[in-house]
Amino acid sequence: MRGPFGYGGAVALTGDRKVRGELSFLDGETAGVAFDADETAMFLALVGDLDDITVSACPACRSRIVAAVALVDLLDAAPPHPRAMELVELADSAPTLHIYVVDGVAPCNHDSWLDPGYDEWVDATEG
Ligand SMILES: [Zn+2]
Repeated sequence: MRGPFGYGGAVALTGDRKVRGELSFLDGETAGVAFDADETAMFLALVGDLDDITVSACPACRSRIVAAVALVDLLDAAPPHPRAMELVELADSAPTLHIYVVDGVAPCNHDSWLDPGYDEWVDATEG
């Protein structure tokens, strides 16, 4: 099932920041881009893992904080993804220097994510 972010560009979340795709990218304020399973698989195949641009991450799932500028650089260097421009726009206009990645399918409570970044991620993704 496609969520409200299945088509088009970054969309204002109108108060509901709990975007859930297979993998969602949030700017922590008003906008997000959600990938479905196929888009997520393609994205990860193109960019490799996100470890080099990760600020803080859950060790048990794919939820993490990535550096917005580094994400843009990574996308610039990677082979084209059909929705890369949406991510670039999201990262370029992010109010903080961080993009919050939400693993929407992992049955994970992030109990092992002990880094202080976890609190920032929760604030950004749970509203
Ligand atoms: Zn987790």
